[in-house]
Amino acid sequence: MSNESYKEDTQFVHRGRDPAAYEGVGNPPVVRSSTILYPSLAAYEDAGHKYRYGRTGNPLSDQFEQAMSVLENGYGAISAPSGLSAITTALTAFLNFGDHLLVADNTYPPTRSFCDHVLKNYGVEVEYYDPLIGAGIAELIRDNTAVIYMESPGSDTLEIQDVPAITKVAREKGVLTMIDNTWSAGILFKPLDYGVNLSIQAATKYISGHSDVNLGFVVADNEAHYKHLKNKAVLLGICAGGEDMYLALRGVRTLKMRMKQAGENALKIAQFLQTCPEVTNVLYPALPDDPHYKLWRRDFTGANGIVSFILQPSSKEAKRIFIESLKLFPIGSSWGGYESLIKPQNPKTCRSAVPWTEKGALLRLQVGLEDPDDLIEDLSQGFGAFRGVL
Ligand SMILES: *Cc1c(COP(=O)(O)O)cnc(C)c1O
Repeated sequence: MSNESYKEDTQFVHRGRDPAAYEGVGNPPVVRSSTILYPSLAAYEDAGHKYRYGRTGNPLSDQFEQAMSVLENGYGAISAPSGLSAITTALTAFLNFGDHLLVADNTYPPTRSFCDHVLKNYGVEVEYYDPLIGAGIAELIRDNTAVIYMESPGSDTLEIQDVPAITKVAREKGVLTMIDNTWSAGILFKPLDYGVNLSIQAATKYISGHSDVNLGFVVADNEAHYKHLKNKAVLLGICAGGEDMYLALRGVRTLKMRMKQAGENALKIAQFLQTCPEVTNVLYPALPDDPHYKLWRRDFTGANGIVSFILQPSSKEAKRIFIESLKLFPIGSSWGGYESLIKPQNPKTCRSAVPWTEKGALLRLQVGLEDPDDLIEDLSQGFGAFRGVL
């Protein structure tokens, strides 16, 4: 259904499917394709033939990419087999030998590793910037600056960037901007409406939402950027699995409800953590006393289930006892699924522009769809165990 006048909730139900094309079947079937058959030599030799080979697209990838492009208010999208491969494809597509790249200091650590261990080797100058820089980014832009890469809120530490201030400068100076928009899932923030050229997501997180898929995509703001991106993705051999795209499209049907619930649960957890003497700081932009609340309020329409907090300085053993005494927060690296998780993170090891000065350990909670009262009780008993070994 192409009627864009419907409100977003309504569109979520209908986007990325075409029952008439499949004898009325509501959900598009999983398409598994490598070989595409041509009816004639003329069709084979026609460069405009719709599907040429499974790697470069099929009806299901078209449905998924269109749905993601509409979600992000873009022109077109490419899909990739993981969130990280979507990021590396976007960066590779728009950077050349000798270019200068500006990357937010709080970016997802594997993105940083790609910049440091791959892009640098290919002659790209990588510079990390203070995520709170805003319009001050102008001073870092050089003649050879090709891309500004943002992530807001930043992974684990959740600082909000002034995206429109950065894109205004970038557009004046002719620099392309990209953002990792995984936190918002394209629901809570629409980066392209704020002047960003490419929005990238790990559909692994909220979009698929059930901890069973690695998948990514990049949405471009206009035809020229989309075509360039698609050409490079084909050259790099990037394509996503049919089963994964099917599951992600299914996730989209309930995405908004799941995010809303996770956001409500997380706010309760964040408010509870603020009352705990074992916690010295709670990082969650939807808390009115969070330093990033104002910008979050201005640009975002909600918050998700990620709550980070700083544990009061303690021994390694006390931290271990706290984490391992939790029953409803298993240790796990991903987020955006239905289940709550905890993950220790050390921002000191992945910062260079702005030093990380918190003394206690940073623990990141992914708050899931459990009853928040149960989660709070579990954290309470965990802090009890922690106090016992302090
Ligand atoms: C998880 C994540 C990714 C990478 O997704 P994968 O599918 O695991 O490669 C990228 N960016 C952010 C912010 C993430 O949290």
